[in-house]
Amino acid sequence: MARLVMKFGGTSVASVERIKNVACHVKREVDAGHEVAVVVSAMSGKTNELVGYVTDAAKLYDPREYDVVVASGEQVTSGLLALVLNDMGIAARSWQGWQVPLYADDAHGSARIENVDGSGIIAGFAAREVAVVSGFQGVHKATGRITTLGRGGSDTSAVAIAAGIKADRCDIYTDVDGIYTTDPRMVPKAQRMDKVSFEEMLELASMGAKVLQVRSVEIAMVHKVPTYVRSSFDDPMNPNTGTLICDEETIVEQQVITGIAYSKDDTEITLRQVADKPGVAAGVFMPLADANINVDMIVQNISEDGRTTDITFTVPAAEYDRAVDILTKLKDEIGYRALQGAKDVAKVSAIGIGMRSHAGVAARAFKALSEKGINIRAITTSEIKFSVLIDAAYTELAVRTLHSLYGLDKA
Ligand code: ASP
Ligand code: MG
Repeated sequence: MARLVMKFGGTSVASVERIKNVACHVKREVDAGHEVAVVVSAMSGKTNELVGYVTDAAKLYDPREYDVVVASGEQVTSGLLALVLNDMGIAARSWQGWQVPLYADDAHGSARIENVDGSGIIAGFAAREVAVVSGFQGVHKATGRITTLGRGGSDTSAVAIAAGIKADRCDIYTDVDGIYTTDPRMVPKAQRMDKVSFEEMLELASMGAKVLQVRSVEIAMVHKVPTYVRSSFDDPMNPNTGTLICDEETIVEQQVITGIAYSKDDTEITLRQVADKPGVAAGVFMPLADANINVDMIVQNISEDGRTTDITFTVPAAEYDRAVDILTKLKDEIGYRALQGAKDVAKVSAIGIGMRSHAGVAARAFKALSEKGINIRAITTSEIKFSVLIDAAYTELAVRTLHSLYGLDKA
């Protein structure tokens, strides 16, 4: 007997018919003798609809009431799945975030989980009862108010609940059958991975792979929850296991590069002729940090004349206007000649634990990209990843080029 968390995303619960299919997956595990907690998203499209109601109701809305409204989508699906399971003769009850309780902080709209009290769910297991938990939502302990965990947050609920009830594994059921070496819609030669390490998955998710919320991977890594990404559209009686996200020690055959990710959510800002003296970088980046703007890639050129230099960096597209506004207001204080911005850029990243022990991995990419005539605007590297910023028009070509270069193409 094992203890499992099974999480189903929006497309998997998009209708009562699909919820009945989900119940068949749950039945399979219950019949095998396992203790099961299910975590559900809202029906696909529901959360967007609810967000629309909120912004229609009030342009500058109170985020606490936003959370009350948007958390309701998950309440509907948890109740429906419990009803369907009961109808099939499987004892089940629904749990809202505040009932578990799943405690989160009061950053309404993007709250972070503080801890999960698994005792109620575990007591239900003793009575052979399936727990059906609403994902995406928690409660702030001090105020007792409902909080939500940010878009895609039900992945994070699932992994946190798995940690909180000490589950043997967490199965994330979605509309794809696993994690691929890159986006299979862009690169038909992409391959499904059997296993990927927590660290690599964290980078893949952070760099643009959209299968899992980044924070869910962080929690899985910290609590060492073996997590599978698998398809809810498989035959419930004969499903595939999907991709296992696990400790790197569990992965025997390690590639140098395991995946290529891309993101078009970044924008580039260049400050021309900034004074080349101590304190200038702080003068540029502190005000952005104070405004909660996340700067990613930074390139500073060596100054030609010993007096001025250029600084280029990227910020998320959603923060571009605010960043430009802040820097324009500080033009005299910082002391630069001109600000140039570019929105049509993309970040392409290659990720692999093997980079730690192999030299020249990124250099090969720079050569391959130049042979395709792709200009690199900025570069960043870390221990297991490098990213290049390029013109957005070349995204697909760059992803395909790197995917082939590192031997990831399906034969
Ligand atoms: N329903 C929420 C959303 O659409 C949470 C989730 O599905 O993970 O973002
Ligand atoms: Mg999702």
